[in-house]
Amino acid sequence: MVKVVKFGGSSLASAEQFKKVGSIIRAEEERKYVVPSAPGKRDSKDTKVTDMLYGCYAEAEAGKDFSGSLAAIKARYDEIIQGLELKTDLTKEFETIKKNFEEKAGVQYAASRGEYLNGIIMADYLGFTFLDAAEVILFDEEGNFLAEDTNAILSKRLKSLDKVVLPGFYGATADGVVKTFSRGGSDITGSILARAAGVDLYENWTDVSGFLVTDPRIVKNPEPINIITYKELRELSYMGATVLHEDAIFPVRKSGIPINIRNTNRPQDAGTMIVENTCKQSDYTITGIAGKKGFVSVNIEKAQMNSEIGFGRRALEAFELSGINFEHMPSGIDTLSVFVHQPEFEGKEQQVLAAIHRLTDPDSVDIDSDVALIAVVGRSMKSNRGVAARIFAALAHNNINIKMIDQGSSELNIIIGVSNNDFEAAIRAIYDIFVSSRI
Ligand code: ASP
Repeated sequence: MVKVVKFGGSSLASAEQFKKVGSIIRAEEERKYVVPSAPGKRDSKDTKVTDMLYGCYAEAEAGKDFSGSLAAIKARYDEIIQGLELKTDLTKEFETIKKNFEEKAGVQYAASRGEYLNGIIMADYLGFTFLDAAEVILFDEEGNFLAEDTNAILSKRLKSLDKVVLPGFYGATADGVVKTFSRGGSDITGSILARAAGVDLYENWTDVSGFLVTDPRIVKNPEPINIITYKELRELSYMGATVLHEDAIFPVRKSGIPINIRNTNRPQDAGTMIVENTCKQSDYTITGIAGKKGFVSVNIEKAQMNSEIGFGRRALEAFELSGINFEHMPSGIDTLSVFVHQPEFEGKEQQVLAAIHRLTDPDSVDIDSDVALIAVVGRSMKSNRGVAARIFAALAHNNINIKMIDQGSSELNIIIGVSNNDFEAAIRAIYDIFVSSRI
């Protein structure tokens, strides 16, 4: 069994954290491939090195003196190097970075240096080979990640290497221009490496012991999720459950490699396994509950809309013309509702309404704002009767009015719309009925 291990910024924020990471890696010979993030926050008031780099580069770009900000970044690394009693000297690296900043090498280059430098330290600390991501993670000129080219080049390079540190978050174009993934993108690098190396498991080490059934800011000490499928995770992260970068599942999923979310500060916890499929039912009828506030539902009514060919297409075109994404579209016989993000919609609402009138000639259009959507997700739902009934009973019991119900045809989730004001109470009610009372 061979593993890729990726460590997030909080796991590498200080020498103390590095030492925990070192003992995790050394505990298992199988942990051969390491992906570090940049040093994160040491405490809640601290600044992530990536953010310091963005700030420093902004000064450079504005032609200001950025030497103070760059020195502060170097100090973060020096503190780690000293704490680990290493001989690593980053002076030359910082001279190059300074020169490249002066020559305006680009904001993505700037941000990538956080992982690059941390990778150098990590490789020294572990005695592993440092592999610069700019050589093996490929992007096109527009910054799109080239999955297949990367997989070919990276797997070839890995054949001649035994234990490797590959910094996360960035890569480069064929001409060597550094590009980054979106924020949190080291998770993606870990997944790419897992696929290219053909490992058995991708361990993603962070500061929580995996996914929880729901948001701990809403429900106190929610139960952990032991095992979750990629599909369930996709539903939950779409609704705002963030532990792993959304794009990180694609490379490993393609090759059937499971991801194990683990906690660097509590390595004794098993964490959450993310798998393609499993015969294990979830611990409760549902796997997770997530949600988001701030939707608007635009309700279009027209008699006999059901027999009007192209009605749905024209209704959606009204949104498309204003560049607005639609999130859900439940429909009735003579009604059709389109759910969109409120902040995106607000500035363009009159434009959209006019287009709806022009394109669909409706009897009426009304708008319901400040709606929250809650997704109740679970692979076990399919084989359990009465899930929806229990959700509705729980909400009714708590005097919560349901504005919308949408059950995906996969029977993997039920989405419920409630007023923003009822959001937290609704999640608590659903959690209680399935988890606290274990039915
Ligand atoms: N350091 C980058 C960020 O802060 C990428 C990562 O940590 O995954 O977003």
